[in-house]
This record gives sequence, C-alpha cells and structure tokens, in this order.
Amino acid sequence: MPARTTLRPAQQKSGLAPTHPCDPLQSEDKVYSRSTAKARYGGRYASFAVKRVNRNAVGAAFDLYFRTVYSLDQLRRTRLVYLCEKPQSMRMLVLEHAPAREMAESTTFSPYLPYRHTLLTPSQIRQLSTLRPWRAVAAIAFCWSCILAAFALVAFHPVWWTVLLAIPVIGNRYYALFIIGHDGMHRRLFPSVRRNDFWTDLVILAPIGAITRINNRNHLAHHQNLATPQDPDRHKHACFNKAGHLELLEFLSGFSSIWKSAKSVYLARIQKKSPAAPANSAISHYSLRDFLMLAGWFVALGGGLTWLIGWWAYPVLWILPIYLFMFLGDNFRAFAEHSHPQNDRDSDEQRMISYISNPFERMLVAPMNMNYHAAHHLWPSIPYYNLPEADRLIREHPDSIGLEWRKSYFGYLRRYWSALPIVECKQGR
Ligand SMILES: [Zn+2]
Repeated sequence: MPARTTLRPAQQKSGLAPTHPCDPLQSEDKVYSRSTAKARYGGRYASFAVKRVNRNAVGAAFDLYFRTVYSLDQLRRTRLVYLCEKPQSMRMLVLEHAPAREMAESTTFSPYLPYRHTLLTPSQIRQLSTLRPWRAVAAIAFCWSCILAAFALVAFHPVWWTVLLAIPVIGNRYYALFIIGHDGMHRRLFPSVRRNDFWTDLVILAPIGAITRINNRNHLAHHQNLATPQDPDRHKHACFNKAGHLELLEFLSGFSSIWKSAKSVYLARIQKKSPAAPANSAISHYSLRDFLMLAGWFVALGGGLTWLIGWWAYPVLWILPIYLFMFLGDNFRAFAEHSHPQNDRDSDEQRMISYISNPFERMLVAPMNMNYHAAHHLWPSIPYYNLPEADRLIREHPDSIGLEWRKSYFGYLRRYWSALPIVECKQGR
C-alpha cells in the first residue's frame, strides 16, 4: 500500500505533524489518544492510532487494537492507511476507522455488538484487561513441573501403571499450557508483542510445532468471523457435520476434525486465498529463530525421552497425551461452547456460551478459565485470570439475558446426543 505524503491542513495547523507519515518523529512506540491522533492527522479520522515496531507489523496491529479499542467489531471496521518501511528494519502502521457506511455494513454481521457496549463499562474493561504477567509465569512453571514430574516417574519406574498415570497428567497440563498460550496468541501475556511472542513460542507453542506469529491467524479469524461461514473453526461447532450419531462420534474422536484443524492452523500461510493471509510475506515465513525453537524442542523432547526412557516414550508420553487431552479436549470444548442442537441458521444468532460446570470438568475440558468463553469472545483483551471476575460482572447485568450459561459440558453432550439425528442439519449441508 503506497504511503500518502501530502499533509492535511489540520496536520499543518496542529504543529504536531512532521513532514512525512514515516518520519521518525511520528514513530514513537506508543498509541496516541484519540484527540492527539486527531490533531496530528486531521479531522477525517474518527479514531486513529500509530505504532512503530520491529518486523512484526501485523502482530503490532493486533496489539494496537487490543490496547485501544477492545472490540473485534471495531477491528473489523479498522483498515490500514499507511504501511511505512523507513528505515528498512522498522515498520509503522497507521490505522483508521472505515467510513460510516462501511461501519454500518460491518456491524450488521455481529449480533454481539450490543453486549460489548452495555455489559461492561470502558473503565471496567480497561481494569480487567490489565496484565499481570507473573500470574501466567507462575501457572506455566506449575504446568511444566507436573509434566516433568510425570516424565521422571516413568523414567525411574517404567511400568504400565506409571505410564497410564503419566499420560493424563502430561496431556491435561499441556492443555492448560495451551490455553495460556491462547492468551499469547491474543498477545495478552506480556505488554510487548516481541516478548509475548518469544515466551509463548519458547515455553508453550514450539513443543507442538507452532509459532505464535504464524499460527495465531486461524484463531484470530475465528474471533472475527464467529457465527459466519467465514469462521475457519466453523466445522467444530456447526451441526452440518454432526447431524447423526456416527458423525458426532467421528468428530469427537478427532477422526473428521484433525485434518481440517491442522490444515487451517499449520497450512494457512501457504493457502493463497486464505482471508487470514497477511499482506506482509516477512511475517508469514519461518525465521531462523523459529527453526531453532522448533528443532530445539523436537531434539529435547524426542531425543530426551528416547534417551531417558526408550524409543516408545516420545509417541506414548508426548504425542498421544497431546492428542487425547489437548487436541480432543479443545475440540470438544470448542463444539460445546459455540453449538446448539439445532440448525445452524438459528444457532448463528447466539454462539457465545459459557459453562459453570464442576472443577473436574473445568480441569479436563476448559482449564485456565476457558469455560467463561462468552466473556473471552466479547473482550479478548481480558487475560484468562480475570475472566471469572468479568463473568461475574456480566451475569449480574440485566442485559446479559440473551447470553447462555450451561451447567455441564458432558450434560450438554448428552442433550445434543439425544437430539440426534437433526434433519435440518442434514438439509443444510
Ligand atoms: Zn480467543
């Protein structure tokens, strides 16, 4: 996108505007307030922000959005005006809100906008979105301690019952790590995008072959397009592929969902027509740092477990637990938190569902407060440790009546199973 170089009259008058949008004076590493941005860039923009970052331009856009607008509806209405590359190692993003007509068009797709505007006040959102990185660091350390203890148990006493004990501990604690990594994908672990991505990759995602900057696109597109056919995770919660008992079992076992999920997360970058594909090719390719992390973890886990325990340890104590407890757990959770036992047209009107559930279900299906899923979707800027408070506030609000809270994940599964086959779902394929 070519950068505009002509200054607007308001920019000239303000005394704040430098001579070129890429001028270093404009490239402070900060987000401008609405009034300052308006003074700098003129009255044309309803809201405006700018940030200078190293390398990761799209990551910065999301970071900037989370810091400033708190709403995915607003992100949908925000577009890139400038992408400056001066000097080469720096990129500066300038964003503006789309004109009113486009804004009106975009918001018609979201039935959730009123909830975002009414259930929490801006100051509550800001307060709940305050990061406390030490909370995540402590949880990450605890989860890895459990996983390492399970490895050690089998290494010291490699018999069938220690293996059977280790598999759920490793799988479930990695699932908990993955949910913390989900906050990392939203850039909500650390205030800095660079630090956030580095630690998310190093201690959470690289062990399963993922890199935040590359593999978070599927999830961000899911947030942006929930309840629309453009949602890349639609296969997880729509009923067209779960209209009968056998289809539901195929989905829950991962048989019909693993390829779709793996393709949209790991292969999105090479799918040219993917809506989530970034404009900048530099961030869509693996860097040396990425390769080192991925290779390092493969050597550490594959080599370490083989050396310590035996040739079977990597598939049995890593790949199998991840599949059973992380992948299938997340697959089931995503289905339960966005689906209804009815046709997709009606379900699309309300796909934000939270669960109260009991501690065992929460640990197994939705660790790290993911059961408060409506609050997460409404305000992805709120880190996982603040979701219980957000959920409490919105439940007390009379306008939350359209949202749904269910008591049990397995109770809902039983209800869905009983409703099958759903004829309307078969017709909607
Ligand atoms: Zn999310």
